[in-house]
Amino acid sequence: MTLQGMLLALAPRRLAPCVTLATALFSAPLLAAPAFPQGLSARAIWRPGDLNQLEAIGPRTSLVLRVRYPGEQDPISDPAAQSSAMDMIESIDRNSWSVTSSTVDITPTFEMPQPASFYSNSGNGTVLLRIRADAHKLARIAGFEPEDYDHDIIISRNIWNGAPGLGTINYRTVFVAGGGGWLWGHELGHALGWGHASGWTSENADPISPTGNYVEYGDQFDMMGNQGIPSIPRAFHHCQPRYKLRAGWLPSSSVIEVNAPGSFQLQDYSQAPSSVAPSALLVRRDADTDYWIFWRADEARCAEGPVIVRANRNPLDGSELIDLHPMSAPLPGGGAAGDLLDSAMAPGEAFWDQAAGIEIVHQGFHAGLLQLAVSVPGSQSLLDERPVIDVVAPARGRTLRGRAAYRATAFDPDVGRSDGAGIDKVRLELLRLDGHVEGPPVVDIVRDKAPYFFVIDTADPALGVIDGKYILRVTATADDGGVSANRFLNLIDNTGPSF
Ligand SMILES: [Zn+2]
Repeated sequence: MTLQGMLLALAPRRLAPCVTLATALFSAPLLAAPAFPQGLSARAIWRPGDLNQLEAIGPRTSLVLRVRYPGEQDPISDPAAQSSAMDMIESIDRNSWSVTSSTVDITPTFEMPQPASFYSNSGNGTVLLRIRADAHKLARIAGFEPEDYDHDIIISRNIWNGAPGLGTINYRTVFVAGGGGWLWGHELGHALGWGHASGWTSENADPISPTGNYVEYGDQFDMMGNQGIPSIPRAFHHCQPRYKLRAGWLPSSSVIEVNAPGSFQLQDYSQAPSSVAPSALLVRRDADTDYWIFWRADEARCAEGPVIVRANRNPLDGSELIDLHPMSAPLPGGGAAGDLLDSAMAPGEAFWDQAAGIEIVHQGFHAGLLQLAVSVPGSQSLLDERPVIDVVAPARGRTLRGRAAYRATAFDPDVGRSDGAGIDKVRLELLRLDGHVEGPPVVDIVRDKAPYFFVIDTADPALGVIDGKYILRVTATADDGGVSANRFLNLIDNTGPSF
């Protein structure tokens, strides 16, 4: 990494195409000494009573549960399982800056009571449910109680006709088809409620051209992306700051929400947060969309400047690393034309979102810190805050059978912080998932005042609830018209183990 000892007093080269409107927004900050803005009062980014806030601090435990099917080989050897577990522990330790410590227990390989075809033919999208029920019972017989762990990772040959890693079905259990600690860590990220780190590439000079392309998993610098950077595949990568905030790994004091133009510094994002400079900047684009700016200094291809990740506040949508150099030639050492590997902003460059009135200029480095000038409209503080939603029943990770109660809370932070404040109505839908495909709701009700709840008998044939993976989708509409939605994964299994 090359650090420059002085600010670049150059006119920034805009990465957006509309250079004719490049008014000198930053002539003064560019020439002034950098000053760490102490007085910016960021509004709370995540609040108590937010489903997205899922802390993972202190000691955390995972059970790696290995299964094979009669007449088949083990899915993973002892050394491979141990090595993968060590990689996963390292990933969590480095990502959390040691805020979290992990303990992993690995079971012997259990032989399942039924042939693979029993599970793979179980129908109605219940393959994972049937594997889980039998694997958990085998673990209990052997003296492991899966419910005593924060997470369990079931290693099975892929008999589910899908990806080798499947994320989570209930924020607790994840499935993988073999070894790979960085992959296990990625799946555990899903169990913390995180989506994929994707990308946005443009086919013209404007990095945020609406005609560009969404690239699922496209942020290869992020553990929640595909991690497949040429020459260093499946290496360790830090996840993005909005997830670290949610996990409690990144303190909110280390994220500056920019609500007025100014000069800002960033510290190396790979280093533990400190009081020297923030680890990330948050720029609200509109009521639903944020830009996150941070400096992946430990990633060779990002060392020269910050990356910009665009993310919807609605967690149903993922995030997009913005390719700041669209249509560029491949970088030396791998990659393809127009890919996302050259997404970082070089010194002297600027990102410009003309429609939103946002400009971000990389001014260079000073004393090991990255210097930025950021301009935002004066109306940032007027942006609507969407309703905040939580699901308080059922408990996260609990498998339901028989009678089940569902309850959500919602409030509008523009109004207050108690259940129901500022909320016009809440819609509760219980939807069955077949793989990732949502079925029609088995429950669909609207409540115009708290408590927002319903109770069902999941075993009642008249209701037509069958075993499976479900989401509770909660849509809250505020009195001021703002709408937000969130979803909560849960399992209904009235059948249980096969033996
Ligand atoms: Zn994934």
